[in-house]
Amino acid sequence: MKRVYLDHSATTPLRVESREAMMPLFGDIYGNPSSVHGFGQEAKKHLEDARELVAKCLNAARPEEIIFTGCGTEADNLAIKGIAFANREKGNHIITSQIEHHAVLNTCEYLAKNGFEVTYLPVNEGGRVRWEDVAAAIKPTTILITIMHANNEVGTIQPIEEIGTIAAAENKRRAALGSAVWLYVHTDAVQTAGKIPLDVRAMGVDLLSISGHKFYGPKGVGALYVKKGARIQPILHGGHHERNLRAGTENVAGIAGLAKALELAIMDMDHEQKRLGVLRDQLEAGIIQQVPSLKVNGDTAHRMASVTNISFAFIEGEGILLSLDLAGIAASTGSACASGSLEPSHVLKAMGVETTLAQGALRFSLGHQNTAEDIAYVLETVPPIIDRLRSMSPLYQKTVKS
Ligand code: PLP
Repeated sequence: MKRVYLDHSATTPLRVESREAMMPLFGDIYGNPSSVHGFGQEAKKHLEDARELVAKCLNAARPEEIIFTGCGTEADNLAIKGIAFANREKGNHIITSQIEHHAVLNTCEYLAKNGFEVTYLPVNEGGRVRWEDVAAAIKPTTILITIMHANNEVGTIQPIEEIGTIAAAENKRRAALGSAVWLYVHTDAVQTAGKIPLDVRAMGVDLLSISGHKFYGPKGVGALYVKKGARIQPILHGGHHERNLRAGTENVAGIAGLAKALELAIMDMDHEQKRLGVLRDQLEAGIIQQVPSLKVNGDTAHRMASVTNISFAFIEGEGILLSLDLAGIAASTGSACASGSLEPSHVLKAMGVETTLAQGALRFSLGHQNTAEDIAYVLETVPPIIDRLRSMSPLYQKTVKS
């Protein structure tokens, strides 16, 4: 049976070059990078080379601004809790959005239960935060704005540079007033690293999270950019690793694999994103042409090239997913972390998508190995599945007959 993987927003296969970068670190180079002897220093060299490479990929001013973590979720936790707890005597207000990944939303919820005030900004129908709303939400006690770079369910890209500019103006205003409260900006760039250019200085962010497995690197390794001078505290306590910000012996192999994968993703980016955009548009247009009663979710003017999220009326995304899986096609109803829950997506809800339509949402996310042939196969397979599921749907029968 033909198999087509269209769930690259959930995770990506490991690329060969990333695996090769890791192999020596699973073999002869096994020293602890914190050890002073030759074995340790050999491992440390790989660690620091990777740090330098990641810093370069993000246009960070200094390699020390890169802190390696155990995953994207940990990078988000470190950024948000780290800034919140280190600055709590200065202010307790955090601004985020209603469409963040649960790594951010649940961290903010935890902080809200622990004395912080959190503003969850709404989004427009395309899933975009309005920068004007960000500006209006800032209070003298606001210490952190955390807004994702692009959404994992619908691919909508957020106005991060504008938010960076707003925060810079606010910090300037506060400094002129003699205030010591700094307003930090964090962005969760887990979905965009390697797909959209990231330049922490141009974006005006103090913190930025990435995760290896979203760009053909290994799972279980992430990184957080922390601008020099940021007042942040660790969330893991132990040894003095990672500038005292992330205790624990580094996953040197995973880190080397992440750095290699990021470097190559950036080298391929222009060409690959254009190619995926063409395939995605073919997929979307083909489905729209063949299937009635659907809605494309997201902001088509500000959207990642590799993602389309489509709501099929009258049926449930889970049902479509299972039928597609039997035909060898892997897609998703949205976030892998939310699958298994019958709750409609919080992202689509925030975008004002009606509950029944939100329940019929399916995300196709494209990547390296996808070809025009794959898209042709999906376009052959999807319409009859939708027809069959609709023919069994009481809601559809009732609507069509009435
Ligand atoms: N943030 C976003 C936007 C994501 O899409 C994900 C993963 O799906 C994460 C954070 C969590 O990353 P990780 O799986 O590395 O913990």
